[in-house]
Amino acid sequence: MKAGDLLQSADWKAEKHVPVIECPDAVKADEMFDVKVSVGKEIAHPNTTEHHIKWIHVFFKAAGDKFAYQVAAVDFAAHGESAEGPNTGPVHTHHGATVTMKTTKPGTLVAVSSCNIHGFWENSKDIKVS
Ligand code: FE
Repeated sequence: MKAGDLLQSADWKAEKHVPVIECPDAVKADEMFDVKVSVGKEIAHPNTTEHHIKWIHVFFKAAGDKFAYQVAAVDFAAHGESAEGPNTGPVHTHHGATVTMKTTKPGTLVAVSSCNIHGFWENSKDIKVS
């Protein structure tokens, strides 16, 4: 078994766990741009103490390069926990974030999300550079 075997993929419009990557299709070399990653854009994912998205990690593989780079690791840490019991706390972190990055090379962004009970899900998006 390989680590990649743990990653599930599907159409994000039909499967609520798949991370959605929103960013420009093409960017200018070495110029900052925003990448928004989220889970549940089309079909909401629960955000409860028992069932929630724990994190989204973002990677970039430049075209032609051998190795990939990690762009961001975002933890979603509050899910209604409190001393009173599950789902009684006032704070919930939403499972979405915007990170800002730049690249001198075109390539592919890969996002991996983690549901605490439904495992790991991936998605990708190509970026052109001019
Ligand atoms: Fe789930």
